[in-house]
Amino acid sequence: MSRRLRPLPPGSTLGILGGGQLGRFLTLEARSMGYRVRVLDCDPHAPCAQAAHAHARVPFDDIRAVLAWAKDCAAVTYEFENVPARTVLALEKAGVIVRPSSLPLSVSQDRLVEKEFALRRGVPVAPFAPVRSSEELESAAKSVGFPALLKTVRGGYDGKNQARVSTLAQAREARGRLGKHPLIWEKKIDFLKEFSIVIARDAAGRTAAYPASENTHEGGILVSSAAPARIPPRARTRAENAARTLAAALDLVGVLCAEFFLEKGGSILLNELAPRPHNSGHYTLDACRTSQFGQQLRALCGLPLGPVSMRGAAAMLNILGEGKGNLLEGEEEALSLPGVRLHLYGKKEARSGRKMGHLTALASTPGKALSLARRARKLLRWA
Ligand code: AMP
Repeated sequence: MSRRLRPLPPGSTLGILGGGQLGRFLTLEARSMGYRVRVLDCDPHAPCAQAAHAHARVPFDDIRAVLAWAKDCAAVTYEFENVPARTVLALEKAGVIVRPSSLPLSVSQDRLVEKEFALRRGVPVAPFAPVRSSEELESAAKSVGFPALLKTVRGGYDGKNQARVSTLAQAREARGRLGKHPLIWEKKIDFLKEFSIVIARDAAGRTAAYPASENTHEGGILVSSAAPARIPPRARTRAENAARTLAAALDLVGVLCAEFFLEKGGSILLNELAPRPHNSGHYTLDACRTSQFGQQLRALCGLPLGPVSMRGAAAMLNILGEGKGNLLEGEEEALSLPGVRLHLYGKKEARSGRKMGHLTALASTPGKALSLARRARKLLRWA
């Protein structure tokens, strides 16, 4: 595959594997630049399909059908981390331009590979050990210790497929519950803060890193992000350098999110990577000169990356379903607060914990932006 891609002319067709809200935001960017978008996702109500020009309801692992679908695409990307890497590899072998490539996808799909990849490039991670048997469970308990998180090596996201354990009995029980898949034992980090860096990289290796965002999670799901993150400048610089190093080592063309823990004393540990725009980068839609989706589109199409500077500060709160009703009320009151923006993803069923939308608040400092976002969020309710 050629390293240099001549910019894809407007009117070209882009393919997106995965039809969630990330694909939807990319589609809206692509449409505003005159590109056509084909999305591939089994879900008939995929949020991206409402915005795309064409929707193929094909399973990601039906490689023949995916290859046939990609024939009409000038370039393809993915927006979901659990698209099988072998599908992306098959597209690459068939000469389809896929950005990012299968390498960042396969590394980020396996927590053990990801951690070893980071360590080899000098990026620190939480102490960990593989658990593929009851013997390895016992030895991880000794070598890494408690408290710990047991996570499936593959297939987890938004805190799914993981358990917190403080005793060997709990660890044994969790292993049974997680289904005896290969697991990773991770030391539970007593972090001061979680934060992330979203970075864009083009085919020539040029990068642009957004201001870090500080993130809070509940039950493993992102609840809030605020930028610029209130973290020591040294931690930010280290994290930015780590994100750049990893993006280059992965030869990533597109957008990468690197999530970190900030420890007491200012050291940082990489938690995980996502080779795509990220929920913690949604603030860039309203606060930055080029959004993370604008960058993804530019990298995919061989266009120059855009400027990433932001005005003031921003906070993003997710709007999760509560299983109480599918109608969101209170938009009028929330939007009457100056500096508040609302993004809804067009999902029909507001199941409990489902990401239905988000709101962004713009203010002069991250603290003020968070308070404003919380005020706005309180005005919204499901009915
Ligand atoms: P993950 O799916 O690995 O990103 O985990 C989801 C969330 O669980 C993280 O954002 C953290 O809030 C928490 N978490 C995951 N791993 C650890 C860890 N080793 N120590 C402390 N908290 C963790």
